[in-house]
Amino acid sequence: MKGMANNLMKIILIGIQGSGKSTQGKLLGKKLQVPYLSTGHIFRVLSKKDTPLGKQIKVLMNVGFLIPDEKTLKIVEEYLTRPEYIKGFVLDGFPRTLAQAEKFQQDINKVILLKISDKEALWRISGREEIREDETLMAIRKRIEIFHKFTEPVLDYYRQKGILLEVNGEQTVEQIHKEIVGKLHI
Ligand code: AMP
Repeated sequence: MKGMANNLMKIILIGIQGSGKSTQGKLLGKKLQVPYLSTGHIFRVLSKKDTPLGKQIKVLMNVGFLIPDEKTLKIVEEYLTRPEYIKGFVLDGFPRTLAQAEKFQQDINKVILLKISDKEALWRISGREEIREDETLMAIRKRIEIFHKFTEPVLDYYRQKGILLEVNGEQTVEQIHKEIVGKLHI
């Protein structure tokens, strides 16, 4: 896969909250010269809007629940039709459920799982200096629980397709990036 940086590269990053997805996603996007896109970020922007959709999203996010699949799919697919994503992307936070993965229209090259333990995730998030509105301990616990219940089947789905790469997320930022780059052969 050498030279892949110049080709179409559509990557998905999966990991529990605190696994370092956004840090690694941005680094990888730079390396591949494709944009990084986070559904959490999209939803946080939408949740600030004074619209019925904005209010619904805000309520769900603040308790750590998922946004319904149909809404999520529609929003993500719409984003990915924008010209900047035609050449590829690093997508963080989607798909989170099997239904989202099965209905997703894009052809994905690789899915990267950033593996860290629940304990490490809680430890990292509670040590952050800036705590977001949707990062109460209860919401974080809920998100971890939802990850195991709804997102683990997504991992099996991509594992069966043979495109899942597992990376040890309990290393330094540089070491994790190196492991990702090595496993992608770029
Ligand atoms: P994140 O920043 O990725 O942890 O996402 C923050 C919150 O946004 C989640 O707890 C969900 O409420 C919502 N969210 C992000 N991505 C998705 C998704 N793929 N499906 C449903 N809800 C999502």
